[in-house]
Amino acid sequence: MANPRVIVLTAPSGAGKTSIARRALKQIPELRFSVSATTRARRSGEENGVDYFFLSEEDFLNLVQEGKLVEYEEVYPGRYYGTLRSELDAATTERPVLLDIDVRGAEHVKELYGEDALVVFVAPPSMDELESRLRTRGTEDEQTLGVRLSRSRKEMEYLDRFDAVVVNDDLERATRETTRRISTFLGSSTEPA
Ligand code: 5GP
Repeated sequence: MANPRVIVLTAPSGAGKTSIARRALKQIPELRFSVSATTRARRSGEENGVDYFFLSEEDFLNLVQEGKLVEYEEVYPGRYYGTLRSELDAATTERPVLLDIDVRGAEHVKELYGEDALVVFVAPPSMDELESRLRTRGTEDEQTLGVRLSRSRKEMEYLDRFDAVVVNDDLERATRETTRRISTFLGSSTEPA
């Protein structure tokens, strides 16, 4: 059986990859979103089974033990995130899958899938811009924000390890560039809307 085709959007926290992922999913209907498992708390507006599978740490670690995660990371201290094997198993060449995961997870998926994976690194225009975006989002307190920022700086070092870099200077433009790269990878003849 042919390997599933896997598209990964990765970025330092706050670079805007989730907004790009949402738009890409609308514009390329054949793409299916890979819903990750996480132990972090649900944010308002998020739905269990749609944005994430929200799990207790115990349930998450059981999945790890049972080998049900393709990759997982403790993205923030005490907060686990992982890609479910079942999400990738359901991917087919007709229905490629889109992952929105951190840089270490992305590196792992690239190792596993090689040429069957396209990993796009979404970069912020600058670190100052990234900090101001994280502040505007307002979902973290000062301490968590500091942890996220120092992590983002480290994550920027992954910039040249992947298949493509898209600078998110303007959401519409960055989305266009991302969907163009995805369409080329999928060999689709139809340009996204
Ligand atoms: P957030 O808590 O803001 O939704 O996500 C935090 C970070 O975890 C983001 O960079 C997000 O892409 C990443 N993430 C989400 N799901 C997964 C996953 O399954 N595996 C890995 N390695 N990272 C993930």
